[in-house]
Amino acid sequence: MKIILLGPPGAGKGTQAKSISNRYSIPHISTGDIFRKNISENTPLGVEAKKYIDNGQLVPDSVTIDMVKDRLQHDDCKKGYLLDGFPRTVAQAEALQEFLDSRNEKLDTALCIEVPSEFILERMTGRRVCPSCGASYHIKFNPPAVEGKCDVCGSDVIQRKDDTVDTVKERLDVYERQTQPLIDFYKDKNLLSTVDGTQAINSVFESICKVLGE
Ligand code: ADP
Ligand code: AMP
Repeated sequence: MKIILLGPPGAGKGTQAKSISNRYSIPHISTGDIFRKNISENTPLGVEAKKYIDNGQLVPDSVTIDMVKDRLQHDDCKKGYLLDGFPRTVAQAEALQEFLDSRNEKLDTALCIEVPSEFILERMTGRRVCPSCGASYHIKFNPPAVEGKCDVCGSDVIQRKDDTVDTVKERLDVYERQTQPLIDFYKDKNLLSTVDGTQAINSVFESICKVLGE
């Protein structure tokens, strides 16, 4: 199964991706996670990406597309994959389409988690993440069992540098200008499916399973 997750920042893509990846045994490929790993390891890719991420801008297509194409050729992608945070521009969507066509492969669905913008600020400024294992929480909607500590590995959870009010506003603006057009891109290809992302986390997952044919 090959799935793309669409939706604004803070829609719940990463949260749902973990459950989908477990349920369907496909790798969860998050471009944001790949960039953050490179930033923490101070690689040349990380140094370049950080300039954009910290300001809420997109990392240039020239960097992002090659990085994803490389990742999709790893062995674990033979059984399918779940893309979270890619594509984010029409150029990225076209590059992915070319990549798939060249291999005679097809996407199963572009699944959009719909959440109106008035929900987003609270979701993103309340998000906390574990810098060690990548688990993600929300101080109100999905708090860790012990305040400030990751349920999975016990590390101190942190707020992402790009989850501050000003950067979130910039990211929402970037989403509307650069990423929202992908909804029509996939609708035109009859690949778009949608779920209501304002429901509780478990209910969103149930809706996703139905869309995926369960
Ligand atoms: P994205 O990957 O789309 O940017 P996340 O999955 O990181 O979004 O979710 C953003 C924040 O909102 C996180 O703190 C997460 O715990 C919380 N969240 C995710 N889904 C829901 C939901 N259905 N209801 C309330 N909060 C949610
Ligand atoms: P995310 O973890 O998906 O919220 O992504 C965090 C940040 O990483 C974004 O705000 C962008 O700066 C960058 N990023 C992630 N995915 C992409 C992409 N497909 N294209 C460009 N930039 C990206």
